[in-house]
Amino acid sequence: MEKIRRVAELLYFSKKAVALTGAGVSTESGIPDFRSPKSLLWERIHAYQFMPMEAYTDGKFDYIEIFYRYWFPLLFPMISCEPNINHHFLHDMEVRGLIEGVITQNTDGLHGKAGSSKVFEVHGNLEGGHCFGCGKQYKIDFILDEIESLRIPPRCKKCEGVVGPNIVFAFERTEDYERGLKLAESSDLLLTMGSSLLVEHVKEIVMGCLERGGKLIVINAQPTPFDDVAEVVIAEKLSSVIRTIWDTIERYF
Ligand code: NAD
Repeated sequence: MEKIRRVAELLYFSKKAVALTGAGVSTESGIPDFRSPKSLLWERIHAYQFMPMEAYTDGKFDYIEIFYRYWFPLLFPMISCEPNINHHFLHDMEVRGLIEGVITQNTDGLHGKAGSSKVFEVHGNLEGGHCFGCGKQYKIDFILDEIESLRIPPRCKKCEGVVGPNIVFAFERTEDYERGLKLAESSDLLLTMGSSLLVEHVKEIVMGCLERGGKLIVINAQPTPFDDVAEVVIAEKLSSVIRTIWDTIERYF
């Protein structure tokens, strides 16, 4: 309870708090993460030889085809999932003016669905796609229809280029990433939720806050590389921790 109260205090009294979320905020919406023990997604990805980086460097379009045949069926169900208490909490914290924005590694769009308006999706969003040739934007429905009709990979109506989803394939630094990094660097508190914090460039976001004197809160079931330098670490199930933090903020502040 001491830790919960400390988190509530830090959120309430910080000048510019920012949240950084990972796949763990969405597991309770039914979307598997990568690194939880026995994660279904992780096991299946290994079974399919997921993430063949050579394929990416050898030719992006081969990779896209592999993506559509093996990853996409695993990933696309996430776009019909609903936000849970973790997403709703962050929306409420934004409404109360207690957090400035959410930097997320997730591609499920659930922070936006919960109502958060300042969301930096550093790895993109599965709700849409674009042509690698001319850049024309497409809705996910177009991609789904093409796949159902076995036109893999989908081709652009305008230029016949390959249409891929608006997500990163090799952790490229997106515009949202750069904006999220800047936000973290100017924050005095980073609340990380449901992330192993193992993705290399995401570590930079955490360092960006810490190196400028910001404080770090880690809420994650498994240890992270930043636990030793965090102000508070809570290694428990997110939804119950968040419920208690939310209650504490409502009751005392
Ligand atoms: P990760 O899988 O590496 O880590 C998730 C962490 O969340 C794990 O350490 C796990 O212990 C913890 N966790 C899971 N459920 C939890 C719960 N209910 N309570 C507390 N902790 C819980 O995920 P990551 O750090 O986001 O990095 C992996 C990459 O996977 C990211 O790039 C992300 O884009 C991608 N990914 C996204 C989704 C999604 O969009 N929902 C799903 C799977 C993977």
